[in-house]
Amino acid sequence: MRRIYMDANATTPLLPEVFEAMRPFFIDSFGNASSVHHFGQRARAAVEQAREQAAALLHCRPAEIVFTSGGTESDNTAIFGILRPGDHLVTTSIEHHAVLQAADKVRERGVEVTVVPAGPSGNVDPEDIRSALRPNTRLISVMMANNETGVIQPVEAIGKVATEAGVAFHTDAVQAAGKIPIDVAAIGCHLLSISAHKFHGPQGVGVLYVRRGTRFEPLVFGGSHERQRRAGTENVPGIVGLGKACEIALAALTDGTDDRIALLRHRLEQGLLARVDDCGINGVDQPRVPNTTNMYFDHLEGEALVIALDLKGLAVSGGSACSSGSPEPSHVLNAMGLPQSRAQSSLRYSLSRLSTDDDVDAALELIPAAVAQLREYSPVYKKHLAEAAAK
Ligand code: PLP
Repeated sequence: MRRIYMDANATTPLLPEVFEAMRPFFIDSFGNASSVHHFGQRARAAVEQAREQAAALLHCRPAEIVFTSGGTESDNTAIFGILRPGDHLVTTSIEHHAVLQAADKVRERGVEVTVVPAGPSGNVDPEDIRSALRPNTRLISVMMANNETGVIQPVEAIGKVATEAGVAFHTDAVQAAGKIPIDVAAIGCHLLSISAHKFHGPQGVGVLYVRRGTRFEPLVFGGSHERQRRAGTENVPGIVGLGKACEIALAALTDGTDDRIALLRHRLEQGLLARVDDCGINGVDQPRVPNTTNMYFDHLEGEALVIALDLKGLAVSGGSACSSGSPEPSHVLNAMGLPQSRAQSSLRYSLSRLSTDDDVDAALELIPAAVAQLREYSPVYKKHLAEAAAK
């Protein structure tokens, strides 16, 4: 069976160029980047080159890049690193669990937390962020692009609110990196998280951008790695892979790769809207990253559709990978105010540079057929048809 992957927001495969860049650092150039000898120096040089590549993607100084174990650690470091008991955090209802769960934890430790609701299109209003500010607000954390809907948040306007109020601003750009340009100065953020495996780098390595002069307490203590901002021997192959993936991602913004992905997404959406009744796109009236669409197919269970499509060879997701498999509907779609039945009938399709026209053609055959089959067995759909006939 041909397998088609449309779950790039969960993770992406390594590009061969990324793997080749990493390969020497597993066996030949295996040194510890903190060692003073030749082996260590080779590893150190590679780590510093990757720091420059990451800085180029984010438009910041290399010294502002801190390597971490991924998006979750970067988000946690921003939140635990800035906030102390008595401080106030402003975040939103559509953040990734890496932010929301960390916010719950700091609340238990005496931090006040305001969770600003999102609008029905999955967007956050900067004025709502402003209204939530208090004299003791220390940190605003609002994501750059949502992992489930792809909706791009007005981070530049939120950065202005933060600057005017003299409050630190963290943005989780894990789903923005490699999909839209990121310029930390334009955003006006103090902290920003990215994760390599979301843009064809390896799993388990990420970056926390920390603006020069921003004081925070590290999450991990030990050696003086990463200028005492994150202890632990650097994951040299991972960091090298992240650097290479950043270089490729930066080029993709201007070499037509992202435009091609946007066209594929458009064809998928329009094809499904034309072929399936009672379906639609969540967050459609907002700017969205080019690779993501979140679509509802009323009168069926999304999880059943994920399984039906997987059996036919198409991998999609019912929400974020971290929460799929749980019977709870997506907290993001809930936060947008979707009725529970619609939230539960929604799936995320996320493409990458490896997606092809053939993939979209196949999806346009498989999805309508699977939806029709599930609806055929659905008592809810039968009831809907009977009600429609009675009108
Ligand atoms: N933030 C967002 C928006 C994400 O989508 C993810 C992963 O799904 C993360 C954070 C966590 O990143 P990682 O998997 O690198 O820990």
